[in-house]
Amino acid sequence: MNDIHDVVIVGAGPVGIYFGMIIAKKNHSVLIIEKDSKENTGSKMDQFHLETMVFEKYGIPPPIEGTDEFITKFKWTSYYGPYGKYQQVMDYPVTAMRFQFFIQRLIKLAEADGVEFQFNSSFKDVISSEEMVTGIRVESDGEIKELFGKLVVDATGTSAIVRRALPDDIGVEKFKIEDEDKMYVIQRVIQWNNTDEPHPGTGEYEESISYLYYKTWVAPHFTPNANIFGGGQPGGYENTEKATEIFLNDVPFPPYTLLEEHRASTAYRRSPFSLVGDGFLCIGDSACMSKSFSGEAIESSWSASLIAVDVIHKFLSENLPLTMKNMWEINVLYFRDQGAKLAALLAQIPGAANTTKNDVIYLFRKNFIFSSRDFTSMWENLEMDMSFGRMIKIVWLFLWGLISRQFSKKALSTMLKYMKISGAIRKHYENFPEDIDDFDDWVKEAEILWNPVEKMRYTLED
Ligand SMILES: Cc1cc2nc3c(=O)[nH]c(=O)nc-3n(C[C@H](O)[C@H](O)[C@H](O)COP(=O)(O)OP(=O)(O)OC[C@H]3O[C@@H](n4cnc5c(N)ncnc54)[C@H](O)[C@@H]3O)c2cc1C
Repeated sequence: MNDIHDVVIVGAGPVGIYFGMIIAKKNHSVLIIEKDSKENTGSKMDQFHLETMVFEKYGIPPPIEGTDEFITKFKWTSYYGPYGKYQQVMDYPVTAMRFQFFIQRLIKLAEADGVEFQFNSSFKDVISSEEMVTGIRVESDGEIKELFGKLVVDATGTSAIVRRALPDDIGVEKFKIEDEDKMYVIQRVIQWNNTDEPHPGTGEYEESISYLYYKTWVAPHFTPNANIFGGGQPGGYENTEKATEIFLNDVPFPPYTLLEEHRASTAYRRSPFSLVGDGFLCIGDSACMSKSFSGEAIESSWSASLIAVDVIHKFLSENLPLTMKNMWEINVLYFRDQGAKLAALLAQIPGAANTTKNDVIYLFRKNFIFSSRDFTSMWENLEMDMSFGRMIKIVWLFLWGLISRQFSKKALSTMLKYMKISGAIRKHYENFPEDIDDFDDWVKEAEILWNPVEKMRYTLED
């Protein structure tokens, strides 16, 4: 029989490696399985960014300026309404990096903490015994190997391949993250043809730009005189292409040359109702932890990792089994706080989908919901700042929008409908049951609340 590790993690993405690192720092043995070769790990995308504060918060040294990993640091993001008008500015420090270089550095940091890796090893199957996950089978060099752990962690990203292969009695939902639950992102690297001509990115506070209505953005790139020109839409890449065309028609760019194009998707789905099962944990994209206002999931998954590791450390140290019941506190701490906020944000998406160009223009012009203050608050706290005085002002602005026909009745009624559903979902998650015996009743109620929440759909007007 093979060695038993304390924790076996499948997937050497930013979440699996971070989770492995922090559990290894607590002196538990960790093995990470990755299907790609060591050099290729992290090649799924090129450029990404993280809030600059995460390095200190999560104990990861920031990238060093001048290295291949580091692109730039910036603090200004401009949000624009339709036609590239009505600028709203967010002051929030961000660090832009190259994903593969970052992942390679994380691997080194994890190895220094004692994490073992097995690359070129693909997950095949879950091994279980007496209704508890005890290990996995992997294919490596054409051979099937059995690996055992007191805990098996699914950090395989949107494929969620381990969670989906669980036996039925482990306690975690096995759903696939379907194509209709994804946002299809096309990132183009574009180089401006005329260096002296102003272009998106050269205006005031335009270190990064988001054209929210079109789900399109312009971000810094490490190539001289170049930018990332990105866009995402639900339903498939053809919708993203269609949206890019509409965007460029409304917001024409000066001449540019397309250098590269990358395609990838992110998950827009509710998390499984339980992150833990008997001998099992899912985290990161496999557990749908993304922030729906940006599609990003690294920081939110690291935050969930900190919660999970404390609980797991406690039981491993006492040599107690990592059953669903013992790890229940992970669910309670996660879903009552961050999980509740992310669920509430996700439930609001169909409301926003029914706003027309004119509606969005009104919100930008009147400086509410789509305002500097709201964008900053969303990034900082995962929610809008809704004091009583502000609520009154917002109600008045909506009423005025209706009376003056600047905001449509349909948009308002859909927004209100989903605000109500989202509020109820948040409250329900904030009351996530402390006692595992109350879970089934909680799930029944949660299913009823999620039922009317429609999937994301393509709604851009020509
Ligand atoms: C275009 C784009 C841009 C993005 N930009 C940002 C950003 O700027 N900031 C941000 O926070 N988020 C961003 N995201 C989201 C972010 O990439 C994900 O949330 C994050 O990578 C999730 O990390 P993860 O470790 O859960 O999964 P992944 O990063 O997907 O890693 C999963 C790992 O599991 C491995 N694996 C999969 N199947 C198997 C198997 N069968 N056996 C063994 N190993 C397996 C994979 O090879 C991979 O290495 C972006 C996403 C996209 C698509």
